[in-house]
Amino acid sequence: MNQTFLMVEPMMKLRKLVPLLTAVSITALLATVLVVRIGHAEPKPIDGLDAGKVDYSKLHEATSGYTTVDGHHQEHVIAVANTIPARLQPALKGTDFINGCHPWSTKQLGDCPYGTYDPEGWDHDDTVGHQWANSIWISSKAVRAGTASDVVLHEVGHAVAHNLFTDCYFPLQAETSVKNLLMQSFAHPQADPAELLADAFVIAFNTHSRDLHTHYFDDFNFEASKEVILKIRAAVWLCSK
Ligand SMILES: [Zn+2]
Repeated sequence: MNQTFLMVEPMMKLRKLVPLLTAVSITALLATVLVVRIGHAEPKPIDGLDAGKVDYSKLHEATSGYTTVDGHHQEHVIAVANTIPARLQPALKGTDFINGCHPWSTKQLGDCPYGTYDPEGWDHDDTVGHQWANSIWISSKAVRAGTASDVVLHEVGHAVAHNLFTDCYFPLQAETSVKNLLMQSFAHPQADPAELLADAFVIAFNTHSRDLHTHYFDDFNFEASKEVILKIRAAVWLCSK
C-alpha cells in the first residue's frame, strides 16, 4: 500500500452525530450559492505561500533514518500549488509545499505516501511542533505518476476542512459545524470520512481533463453525489469569507 494520503491528526474524533440538513434547506442554500458563485471561478497565482520557510538541512537532521525531503521536483510542486483555485487559498495562509516524504506518515505507513497535510509539525517519533508545521508534502513518486495536481487538491481538502470548516456553520445549522455535517455525508463503514471528503475536493475543484486520481474513492468503490459536491463548493464559498 503505497498510494495512501494521510492527514496527520491522530487525535481527531467525530463528534456525536446530529440530524442532517433537511432537503429543503440544502436546496435553498445551494440555489443561493450557485447564483452568487457564477463568474468567480478563475484560478489566480498564489502569493501567500512561503516556500522558503523550511530549512532543508535541519529537516534532514531532525528526521535522520528516513528519506524525507527530496527536492528533485520542488519547482514542479510549487508550480502545481500555483494552480490551486483562488477560492481555496484562504485555507493556505503560510502553508509550505515540500517535495518529499513526510516523516510521521512515512513511519506509520512504512512507505512514502503520495501526500500529507500536516498542520502541527509531526516527526517520526510522535513529537510535534517541528518547523514544518502547516505544510503539505508531495512525494516525487506522486509527481512521476502524473498525479501531483490531484494529490495537492486532496491535501488542500484536508487543510480547508481543518482551517475553514471547523468553526463555520450553514444557515439554520448553528449547532453543528460545516465540517461535521460534511463528515456525515461521507460516513462509511470502513473508510475514514475525512479521507473521502478530501478526495471529493479533487472532483469538486480539478481543472484538468485527465482521469482523476482519487485513491480512497477507488479503494472503497465510493461515489459522491452531485448534491454533495455542490455542498462542498457551497461550504468553501460560505466559510472562506
Ligand atoms: Zn488524506
